[in-house]
Amino acid sequence: MEVLRGEVAACTRCRELAAARTNTVFGTGPADARLVFFGEAPGADEDASGEPFVGRAGQLLTKIIEACTLRREEVYIMNVLKCRPPGNRTPLPEEIANCRPFFERQLEIIRPEFICCLGASAARALIDTGDSIGRLRGRWFRYGSAEVLCTYHPSYLLRNPAAKRDVWDDMKRLMARMGVEL
Ligand code: URA
Repeated sequence: MEVLRGEVAACTRCRELAAARTNTVFGTGPADARLVFFGEAPGADEDASGEPFVGRAGQLLTKIIEACTLRREEVYIMNVLKCRPPGNRTPLPEEIANCRPFFERQLEIIRPEFICCLGASAARALIDTGDSIGRLRGRWFRYGSAEVLCTYHPSYLLRNPAAKRDVWDDMKRLMARMGVEL
């Protein structure tokens, strides 16, 4: 994993992103985590710190994890893109293609039992689908040996707090499958 982290830190495949970044944001958590939360791309706070999900959306993700009776330290948290897109724009298809070998190898090392995709970018990067997140919710998918569930991105919840109820339903479904009692 540390070899891969070093390769990511040195990557310049996306010229625009590599030139603008402060830090690459590789991922955090145990390399043998049962559960991976898979987000889209770093924002300003993540670019500044080198850690995924540390800004407002990240604090909400931490609350969601804790509501599941888990600790942030026991899950693996990572993104599709390891560099911040300017102005937090949606990742471009060629940027996702450039980063794909990194997130695929990361998931190969972790071999998680479960992956929770946060938002459509993460879901579409992992599952061959053009469906909206609203359509992807509530269904199980497979990625290698992992079972995959998709839910709304925490940034969406900050703008649409009413959707928190749906995310909580998704988390209850995920915890039930994991054998975690709520
Ligand atoms: N949003 C993401 O998708 N990932 C982060 O790391 C932070 C915000």
